[in-house]
Amino acid sequence: MITSSFDNPAFQSISENLKLIRDEIAEAAIKSGGSPDAVRLMAVTKTVSVEAINFAIQHCGIDLIGENKVQEFLSKKASLLLEDVEKHLIGHLQTNKVKKIFNEVDMIQSVDSLKLAGVISQEAAKAGIISNVLLEINIGNEDSKTGFDKVAFFESLAQIAELPNICVKGIMTIPPICENECELEKYFELMQGYYYDLAAKKYTNFDFEILSMGMSGDYKQAILHGSNLVRVGSAIFGARIYK
Ligand SMILES: *Cc1c(COP(=O)(O)O)cnc(C)c1O
Repeated sequence: MITSSFDNPAFQSISENLKLIRDEIAEAAIKSGGSPDAVRLMAVTKTVSVEAINFAIQHCGIDLIGENKVQEFLSKKASLLLEDVEKHLIGHLQTNKVKKIFNEVDMIQSVDSLKLAGVISQEAAKAGIISNVLLEINIGNEDSKTGFDKVAFFESLAQIAELPNICVKGIMTIPPICENECELEKYFELMQGYYYDLAAKKYTNFDFEILSMGMSGDYKQAILHGSNLVRVGSAIFGARIYK
């Protein structure tokens, strides 16, 4: 049992940060016309220690975590208290690593090519399961970012819709770093538009319920533009230290 962790000042701040973030999420959710619990909070745990993650799970009610890297997640997994916790992969996934991860997480949020979607469906078929995925859109068409570019995205949709062993639960994005709020809101609005358009399509393997956008610096604005899953890392755990 972890009993002494409340005395650890670093862990104390995790608990305080989460209180504040949850209040702000609830407030933004109400402002956007929803119920205060309409938005799910994901704790993004890349570079975070297993002790800190377990504290957030055990003592702060975190029930959804996101990791970026296959190797990092798999090496931490056995030490995490994941019984009642959903795990999502949110970082770029190479097709040759699909085998290792597709059955270890509840969702892959970072499906950024037709090829990757196809490989996930193939592996899921072999395992006799349906894999839940989100399609990641590079909404600012930035060279530095992963995600479908918008043209490739719409060209790939019909083929993605034919893949039998994935279920597309929604879309995800990381918007460009913006000079001002107006510009940022434009990207969020675009995503919200796509979300409604795609949710209305009658593809059999689409079951839209998640619009995943908003991180530490912009989750409030994202919620005001329809996000119902925010991915928050540094605002919970503090600045990341990359080794
Ligand atoms: C790291 C990361 C986040 C969280 O970023 P913060 O700014 O620390 O909240 C969210 N989504 C993805 C895909 C990430 O890689």
